[in-house]
Amino acid sequence: MTIKPEDLEEVARDLQAHAAWLSENGADDLPRLATDPGRLVRGAAHPVAGPPTRVPASARSAPASVPSPPPMQAAAAPTAVRTLPQIREEIGDCKRCRLCEGRTKIVFGVGNPKAELVFVGEGPGADEDLKGEPFVGRAGQLLDKMIVAMGLTRSEVYICNVVKCRPPNNRAPEPDEMATCLPFLRAQIAAIGPKVIVVLGKTAVQGLLNDRTPITRLRGRWLSYEGVPVMPTFHPAYLLRSPGEKAKSWEDLKAVVKHLGRELPKR
Ligand code: URA
Repeated sequence: MTIKPEDLEEVARDLQAHAAWLSENGADDLPRLATDPGRLVRGAAHPVAGPPTRVPASARSAPASVPSPPPMQAAAAPTAVRTLPQIREEIGDCKRCRLCEGRTKIVFGVGNPKAELVFVGEGPGADEDLKGEPFVGRAGQLLDKMIVAMGLTRSEVYICNVVKCRPPNNRAPEPDEMATCLPFLRAQIAAIGPKVIVVLGKTAVQGLLNDRTPITRLRGRWLSYEGVPVMPTFHPAYLLRSPGEKAKSWEDLKAVVKHLGRELPKR
């Protein structure tokens, strides 16, 4: 029987997704992984990438009065933090999962590369796919209003998604698609070193933290990602469908503003 390189690449990809899952669940003795599983097959010409480990000291403490779970264990030895352009270059013309088949543009992320606040959504929709920028459709317009209400601007924060390619028919990304893309989101967060991460909606929480708790129970409660406080809240698309829930999201965002040590703008 002949084993083709594509078969090996697929096995490597599966292993990578499994290792990412193990890492998210606290395994701390995993070997370092190549971000591009194809390199395992073609030979690693570049340094391999493990999960990010650098978090600025300012991001290490969660708000004193709000309990946070312990930081998750890094899966591997420290890896050099890459810059956002380096991470984008590493993604390349990505074909690591099936989402590449229907995408127009890869939607990497937008905003301040040293933002104190990062928003993480689930994945691009039709507008984002065409423009190559996250949250530019109706949900994005609402997100922009939420950011302004917090006393910030879109260019001061950083906005990205768990998956960088549009899932077909606006379906939610599958767990294996999120696991394949997760190393890039982790690298983005490590590069930025935010003080707080706001995770938008159930799927994004699942993708970043591997937590399947319903968002109705999670929202408003501080969680932790690699020592960085995480505030889960409703996805703006859900808020467009259920405007009565906006007040709850606003409470979550006010807690974020407070944690950032900022004042709400005067009305
Ligand atoms: N919804 C998301 O989760 N992300 C986007 O970029 C747009 C809509």
